[in-house]
Parts: sequence; structure tokens; C-alpha cells
Amino acid sequence: MRPSSDTKRIAAAVPSDEALDALVTVLDEIRAAGSRSRSELVARTGLTRGIVAQRVGELLELGLVVESEIGPSTGGRPPRRISFRADAGHLLVADLGATSIDVAVTDLDGRILGHRDEPADVSAGPERCLSRIEELFEQLIDATRDLPGRLWGVGIGVPGPVEFRSGRPVSPPIMPGWDGYPVRERFAERYGAPVWVDNDVNILALGEWRSGIAVGHDNVVVVKIGTGIGAGIISNGRIHRGAQGAAGDVGHIQVVDAASIVCRCGNVGCLEALAGGAALARDGEAAAVSGRSERLRVALDQHGRVTAEDVARAASFGDPVAVGLLLSAGHRVGLMLASVVNFFNPSLIVVGGGVAQSGDQLLAAIRETVYRRSLPLATRELVVQRSSLGTLAGVVGASAMVVEQLFSRDSIARWKQAEGPPTRPLALAAEG
Ligand SMILES: [Zn+2]
Repeated sequence: MRPSSDTKRIAAAVPSDEALDALVTVLDEIRAAGSRSRSELVARTGLTRGIVAQRVGELLELGLVVESEIGPSTGGRPPRRISFRADAGHLLVADLGATSIDVAVTDLDGRILGHRDEPADVSAGPERCLSRIEELFEQLIDATRDLPGRLWGVGIGVPGPVEFRSGRPVSPPIMPGWDGYPVRERFAERYGAPVWVDNDVNILALGEWRSGIAVGHDNVVVVKIGTGIGAGIISNGRIHRGAQGAAGDVGHIQVVDAASIVCRCGNVGCLEALAGGAALARDGEAAAVSGRSERLRVALDQHGRVTAEDVARAASFGDPVAVGLLLSAGHRVGLMLASVVNFFNPSLIVVGGGVAQSGDQLLAAIRETVYRRSLPLATRELVVQRSSLGTLAGVVGASAMVVEQLFSRDSIARWKQAEGPPTRPLALAAEG
């Protein structure tokens, strides 16, 4: 961990669990709504008027909320509104994909204040990719007018498994040179702020859950079909990362016995080796070469290769081979999800990633298979939807991850034990 320069601070009185729970509940309620009056807080949290008043006082002291007199005029004195100070600071976030970098600066509510994206190659290794992210961060900081406050946190998404506690990638199959790389330490040292690192699918899930189509759902599976296939899991209103951060790695569930189909993970018969974007590109290119699909042959002639997007585009024009590839991929993903549905009973499945964004056939095939192959009780309330965040999903998700961690019970406990508002003590927040 980053050596702390705050050792001189002496812990103040440790707040009781109950007081801390109430504080976090009140803050969550204010953050979710943007602003609340004290009586709304009493009604919505079930806490007593006295406790709400005390906790609001603490939040004012911590600088996390501000009080104003602008309330809806219902005759008489307008109630004072307690508002979350989204402009008390800013966040830097980056989503590194297999073939792209997206960076953004956001306020503490995850509102995007500046954004940049460009092609990248994650296999170029951490040094190249992370220095480029740092350069893009500097550009954003320079270009964003009226950057609010100081930097409160940094969030990085990477296209492979991450041990969330340490913020280090763990044996990522498409990321040579990244295994165990100290991504968190690197950014924490450079920016003097807490840093969180997670895989791209978990951040997609958090983004959809906090500000996308999954708002209000407590049990959600977000499956991302990009080059590979992975899933992020929201369980009982929390992201479920598992014991080592490997939860949701559904792309490497074995779905066929055929020894001929070797996955990039080294195993045979994995779902993503049959139904991921790389698999669609491979099968599409084979159809182009063999002359079975005229449209894919044209794509091959034009760019020298066939991509999953080419297959989706050809399918949207009714190319029978491309439609067949998407339906078959959707069916395979649907079978996997039907097992997940029986096991986990989500109320919502969100399908995202580049391949899923580009056409309707894949989603239709997934939906049909999930409903047909899951148990009736598990699908009674189940909805299968496409991701709603589009091309900004990565950075929206990364900021949702930072926000979730910054305002978690553990972070707030640390701030409360430190003296004064959450300025320097924030640097400790990433240690949990
Ligand atoms: Zn595999």
C-alpha cells in the first residue's frame, strides 16, 4: 500500500455502528435524490427526527452536503433543502478495453465534465497503456474549465480479471505483461488520491446499476459480449466480486466437448471461443473466404479482415450466413444465462458490449433461449434488456465504482475518525 503521510493524525472517537449506518443511510438518500428536506429524510429512512438532524449536522461538517432555502413552495415557510455537494471535488476515470482507451473527468456524482477516447492495444503492456492514460488525464484537466474542487479519486477499468483488494490484474489472458502489475500504486503515487481498479464488466454493471437501465433492481446480471464474454453481478444491491474477484467469468464456462476449439485461456470448448466477438469475426471471415457470404466477402476485400461488427452489419441487411452466426451465438449465450438464471434468480439481465450494441438478432436469440430454458418461477418477473449507456458505459461505470467506494461505510468511518473534512484522510480510503 501507499505509505500514508497522515500518521500524525490521531483517531478521534470511533462512531458506533448504529450511528455510522444512519449516517451512510442519510447520505445515500441525499445523493440518490440530489437534495432532500429533513422531513423527507425522516419519512424515507425511518430514522427519528433527532437522529436525522444529528447526521445531517455531521454531513454538513464533513463538507459532503450543503443547506439551502430553496424548496417547493407549498405556502408558508419553504423547507430547507439538504443537497449533495457533487461539485466539492472531481474524479479521473479510465476504461481500458482490448482495443480502446476512454478517459473522463467527472464530478462526485459521476456527471461527465470532459471525455476523450482513442484506439489502443492493451497487449502493448502496462507501461505504454497507463502512460497514455496519464497523458490523456493531463489533457482533460487542462481542457476542463472550472474543474470542481480537488481530485477525490481515480478509477480504472481493465479488460481482464482484477484482484479488487490490491487493484492488480490477475493472469489476464489477453494482457501480456499485466499480471500483478501495481496499477493502483502507480496512480496513487502520481495523483495523491485513492485509486480503485476493476474489470470492465464489473464497472459496466455498476454503471448500469447506478445510472442506467438497472436503477432500482437489486439482483442483476450484466453480460458483456465484446471480444470476449464476461458478466458482472449485482446481488442484493451490491456488486458481487467473489473471493478473488473472479466472479462472473462466464466466458470460460465449457459449453461443448469439441477439442478443436481452443480458447485463449488454454482450455477447450469455452463459451467465448464459440460466441464472443473474436469467434464471430473468425467464423465470419471463414464464410467470406469460402464464398458462402457475399456481403462478408466484400468486407474482407475492403479491410483485409472481417470483424464482429461486420458480421452484425451484414446480419442487419439480412445476410443469411451472418444472421445464422448471430443466432447461434445468441443461443449459446442464452443457454449459459438460463443456467445462471436458475442459479441466481435475477430480476434483470442486461446485455452490453460492442457486439450486443450492433444489432437486434443477437439480443432476440438470447432472450428467446433464456425464457425457454429457465425455470418458470425464475423468469416470471425477469426482463432481458440491452445496455442503455452506449459508448460512455466504461467511464460512467468507472466513476460509479469510485463513487460507490468513496461514500461506502468504510470510507465514511475513516473520515469520521480523522480530524476535519474529507481532504487528506481520503488517501487512506483505498486501503480497505
Ligand atoms: Zn476459455
